[in-house]
Amino acid sequence: MCLFCDIIEGKIPSTKVYENDHVLAFADINPVAPVHVLVVPKKHFDDITDMAVKPEGDLYMTEVMKGINEVARIKGLDNGFRVINNCGEDGAQSVKHAHFHVIGGVKLTEKMV
Ligand code: AMP
Repeated sequence: MCLFCDIIEGKIPSTKVYENDHVLAFADINPVAPVHVLVVPKKHFDDITDMAVKPEGDLYMTEVMKGINEVARIKGLDNGFRVINNCGEDGAQSVKHAHFHVIGGVKLTEKMV
């Protein structure tokens, strides 16, 4: 049972922003900025360390990057945006399906690094 696999399969509704054969991008249910979209690989990977070692991880990582670019274009984030990936327990990852937060639509000021 994986929440994002269920969203990808349409068992749980989401607000779709972009989709292709390899990735789905949908609105985060608890947005932290005017634009907050999650880009997820359609194949299940637990996190980015899983993507790094699985045979198709390279392909899906490339597709995620292109998906992020599509989201930025669709949402008009011409002036920039932030991408966040939380990985594992210490990274405070709450959904164990690799995903990338695309955050923007406002000038972001708080930086962790
Ligand atoms: P993370 O803490 O990096 O694992 O991020 C998980 C994200 O998934 C959080 O920002 C949640 O708000 C978001 N989320 C949880 N359930 C849903 C859902 N059903 N639809 C959209 N976003 C969700």
